[in-house]
Amino acid sequence: MTEQTRKLDSTHSNDDPLHSERPLKKPRIREDDEQDDDDEEPVRQTQGIKASDLYLDTINRAVLDFDFEKVCSVSLSNINIYGCLVCGKYFQGRGKKSYAYAHSIHEDHHVFINLHTTKVYVLPDGYPVADPSLEDIAFVLAPNFTPNSISNLSSPMHLEKLSYDLQHQPYLSGYIGLNNIKRNDHMNVVIHALLHVPPLRDYLLLSDFRNKETELIKRFAALAKKIWNPRLFKSQVSPHEFLQEVNRASGGKFRLEQQGDPVEFLGWLLNRLHKDLGGSKKRNSSIIFSTFQGELRVETQQVLVRPDSGENEKPRFDIDRDIKSTSSPFLFLAVDLPPPPLFQDSHEKNIIPQVGIHSVLSKYDGKTTQESTGQLRRYKCHKLPPYIILHFKRFTKNIFVEEKNPTIVNFPLRGLDFGEYVDIPPDGGSTLYDLIANVTHESVAGTTRDKENTIWKVHLRAARGGGDNEKWFLIQDLIVEETRKEMIFLGETVLQIWERRN
Ligand SMILES: [Zn+2]
Repeated sequence: MTEQTRKLDSTHSNDDPLHSERPLKKPRIREDDEQDDDDEEPVRQTQGIKASDLYLDTINRAVLDFDFEKVCSVSLSNINIYGCLVCGKYFQGRGKKSYAYAHSIHEDHHVFINLHTTKVYVLPDGYPVADPSLEDIAFVLAPNFTPNSISNLSSPMHLEKLSYDLQHQPYLSGYIGLNNIKRNDHMNVVIHALLHVPPLRDYLLLSDFRNKETELIKRFAALAKKIWNPRLFKSQVSPHEFLQEVNRASGGKFRLEQQGDPVEFLGWLLNRLHKDLGGSKKRNSSIIFSTFQGELRVETQQVLVRPDSGENEKPRFDIDRDIKSTSSPFLFLAVDLPPPPLFQDSHEKNIIPQVGIHSVLSKYDGKTTQESTGQLRRYKCHKLPPYIILHFKRFTKNIFVEEKNPTIVNFPLRGLDFGEYVDIPPDGGSTLYDLIANVTHESVAGTTRDKENTIWKVHLRAARGGGDNEKWFLIQDLIVEETRKEMIFLGETVLQIWERRN
């Protein structure tokens, strides 16, 4: 056969001409215990009693924990890992030379779940078991959601749907504690805040990332599913697996052993998720951009020294001269806090400075000017995103230490009007926004950021609608408590997420 006829021939015999040269089946070159055990075997049923019945009651749900990196406890490999459902340990493979096989013989533990496929096997016999009683375990390992099952997560109906863990303790899915493994509370608050933004939350809950997606995306989606899982065995989740990947993907910049800045982490995470989801510079090119990206108009003018201006006069735009206008996209808006008074009267000593949110947002009203390095600038939003992230710049570095501005910001929980800060209202839509997440900072040691004594907390809205329709929870690592709305304003807020009203 000539080369040409063979090609022609293979085109006919194969639906996919581009891949006609590829062998039909990949050669199996891997060791038995590294083999993907996807091959279908019939579920063996012996007459009368199935052997599996003898073992299913040895399963101990209380020791099962699927939050940690899925690596073999002996070989540390992450390929083809099984969890022993009797003791909870992870082992590689299920072939005759595998660690799971050896464990089944040495420890007399016989039921194993494939952590990738959720299929359950009895070892050392090596046959698969399908039993409805195992379904809850598969759901804890890999929760799955449908458009129907998530349709009420933001509605008051969700508040009625209490779940119960193995200890019969009630919990509300989505509002559960996250382990602080070492010093990762600054990342925990960001995880919680993002996973309560409905479009992003729903996108991740309905995702089925099994292929080429990055490990970061896969693990973030898996974490979302665990946090919103209504059938958890224990009502807390460890972000360990996700944070391990954050460490890797950020080249060690964000580590769970090290206290850090949630704003920096949020900025990194949003950009990274956007990129990993195939986003480009274009608008709406990822769920991150379509949810959080707005557009800012920046007007710049060179500052001229005017001889007649008094010392206290603020520089103003000179309409006779050239004003440069540029547009720049943003994922969050940074706002400055007014400097706290340097000296206070003795009777004012304990008064904490306060400021209204509109006063700090005036930076974006298109009139207020800022001067730096000989440039005068003013800002106004050109387009507001469905979800606005605000960053209150509370920390300022002077030469030696990072100082914290203790000013309290006053804001409404509902109906904050951004109308003054945008050129054109979005598609004739509302400029009113409701708060859904609020991240606060607390430090024991006064006004500098003492990293050892720093605590990050997040307030999260459950349900929507105001009044009795919604509740607010305060989450600090494993502590989850319902909080009174009046308490939300008292913290030193650093990050907020606002949701546009329909
Ligand atoms: Zn075991």
